[in-house]
Order: sequence, then structure tokens, then C-alpha cells
Amino acid sequence: MRAIMVAGNWKMNGLNADAEHLTQAIIDAGLVPASPEVVLFPPFTLLTTVQQVAKGGSLRWGGQNLFWEAHGAYTGEISGAMLRDTGCRYVLVGHSERRQIFQESDEIVLRKVKAALHSGLVPMVCIGETEQEYLEGRTQEVLRRQVEAILPALGSAGQQANLILAYEPVWAIGTGKTASPAQAQEVHAFVRSLIAAKSPDIARKILILYGGSVKASNAKALFAEPDIDGGLVGGASLQAAEFIQICQAAHAVIRGL
Ligand code: PEP
Repeated sequence: MRAIMVAGNWKMNGLNADAEHLTQAIIDAGLVPASPEVVLFPPFTLLTTVQQVAKGGSLRWGGQNLFWEAHGAYTGEISGAMLRDTGCRYVLVGHSERRQIFQESDEIVLRKVKAALHSGLVPMVCIGETEQEYLEGRTQEVLRRQVEAILPALGSAGQQANLILAYEPVWAIGTGKTASPAQAQEVHAFVRSLIAAKSPDIARKILILYGGSVKASNAKALFAEPDIDGGLVGGASLQAAEFIQICQAAHAVIRGL
């Protein structure tokens, strides 16, 4: 039985006061320490605020990106160790906005995944096809390429999965269009089969989250699918009430309600 995780990607939004309010509201909702595991991905500037508010509890947080080098003359970049220093357990790698706007290739994603693991972070690797790839029927081809690119970093059988995957169809991110639960389930099962080709054991254990316009009204049906292990939530994670309802939906699925 895999855990269910709900993660909030704040993207480039919020100031310290917002981070304090949002983090406190989630804690006050009493969702943690009860499962699901809830993870916040604030901008770098808000990590210490989240850390101060959430410290000692079971809420987790992570960075939205990292650089693959440990330190040096890389103006504007941030290392895994720096993220760890602010209490991060996780880091997003290969979000479609980074792949598209910042031209992050599969090779770069792999370097970042390795750097994250080396620093003791758990990478949450985002994969997903664009609308054009979807319309051309190339979803599986794209996902195969993106998953195979990170397989060299995957842990070996007998261990816990050392990374998390987030399937985020690009056409569903921030658009209000969501993959139907059945559609998403089919893709998640396919992604899991790609992992199983390398390690059936890790494939059973690895969390594969769904992302793309997850909201309170669709979360429960998505999370109830057998291969969907929770959600990576963008826009809806910025509104405390909505995000808490999504976490409650995950909680209901865990309890079989
Ligand atoms: C995201 O950016 O990871 C995301 C899923 O965004 P949204 O929920 O707004 O579609």
C-alpha cells in the first residue's frame, strides 16, 4: 500500500506574509501529522518562513529547482545543500515550465536529479506531454523518453524509491482542463510499467502524483485511482481553503471514505 501525497507548487507567487498565513492555515487545519504527506514548494525567498512556521511538525517543504553543481561561480543558482540548509526534504525537478521556458533538456533533468540525491534531497521529477504531442498521439513516446532519461538515477530493488514522479500533462497545467481520472490512471499505469521494466520492486513503491488543474472538486476521484498516489497542485495551492479541501480529499481516499 503506497502513501498518498499532496504537494503545493506556489511557483513565483507570494511574499513572506502570504507564506506565513498559508503555512499556518494548513497546520491549523489539523491535516498533519495524519496522512497524506503534505509538501509545500514555495519560492526560495519564502523557504525560511515556511521552515519557521512548520518546524517540528509533519508538514514538509522543498525547493522548486536546484543547480547541479555544489557551489561556485553560478550567479543566480542554488544548490541542493542550500535547500537542505533551509530544512527542505524535497525538490522539484523538470517542471514543464522549466523544460519549456528555461530549455531544460532530459540531460539537464538527470544532472539535477543526481545532484538532488547527492545532497540528500528527494527529487520530485515532473514529466508530461504538451498539447501538441497529446493531439498527435505521442503521449507514451514522450513519457518513455522522459522516464528513461532519469532511470540511471533510480534506486535499486530492495530499497525505498529514491524519487517521486509527477505526471503533469502540459495541456492541463493552469488551464482548468484536467485529465479525467480514467485518462490519468491509464497514463500512470503506463509510467509505472516503464519503471517496472527496470525494477518491479521500485515500480510498486514509487509515488506517481498527478498534476494539472487539480482542485477540490476533482481531487478525490483522481486520488482514488489505483496508480495515482496524490497530486501536485499549482494554482489551487495558493488558496488555503481550497488546498486544505484537496488534502481532505486525499485523507478520505486513504480512509476508504
Ligand atoms: C503545476 O504547476 O505543477 C500545476 C499542476 O499547476 P496547476 O495546478 O495550476 O495546473
